[in-house]
Amino acid sequence: MADSLSSSGAKPDAAASPSTPPPGGSPEAPGGRAALPRYFAALLAAYGPQHWWPGRSRFEVIAGAILTQNTSWKNVEPAIRNLRRAGLLSPAAVRRTPLPRLARLVRPSGTYRQKARTLKGFAEFLARHYRGSLTRMFRAPTQELRERLLALRGIGPETADAILLYAGRHPVFVADAYARRMAERHALVPRGAGYEQVRGRFESLLPPDHALLNEFHALIVHVGKDFCRPVPRCAGCALACFLPAGARP
Ligand code: SF4
Repeated sequence: MADSLSSSGAKPDAAASPSTPPPGGSPEAPGGRAALPRYFAALLAAYGPQHWWPGRSRFEVIAGAILTQNTSWKNVEPAIRNLRRAGLLSPAAVRRTPLPRLARLVRPSGTYRQKARTLKGFAEFLARHYRGSLTRMFRAPTQELRERLLALRGIGPETADAILLYAGRHPVFVADAYARRMAERHALVPRGAGYEQVRGRFESLLPPDHALLNEFHALIVHVGKDFCRPVPRCAGCALACFLPAGARP
């Protein structure tokens, strides 16, 4: 699942280059305002709820979002298990634990020293600014909290947005590599669009509904893994009917 947070972001291998529809175009046009709600409805009908993000607590979700950077979820699971067995799936416990021990426990997730530092940095940030309370932290306005998370070492936009959405139920879109690839192939964004551009596009076309944004992102990851791969398998994909005329993804 959450290896979407670390997927390669490979660009389409063939070269159709559809342009992004003008923002003021018809809502019914491909890429118009009505497009993404239809995508969502089609994906949900085809693949059903994805039940993201598995985690027994908000801190476990946050730890998962950090540990899944640049690796697949199957490597995260043993690291989470190690933390659970050691009783370290809480910000206070992570703060108390010496860095070398934390690093040993999260080793299965790769780049473990850096990830241990990020986990500890997050726990210290939480203690410093929110007296150690995730509830207090997630009460902060979305944009303010996003900027604070992005200022932390080891937390980039994708991780910050996964934390905000999946642990904090803030209405943000996680514009990971799967979403960017699909959006580009469907001419929802210009080719080569960056993270913030794709996030902005999705957030502008969807209601600020954390449950919808949660499910939509999870469904896009499902499509990205099974169909919208570096070499796309459009036949059988629930989004094939939305491909712009002439697109050759
Ligand atoms: S139809 Fe599916 S596989 Fe093909 S480009 Fe669209 S999302 Fe990707």
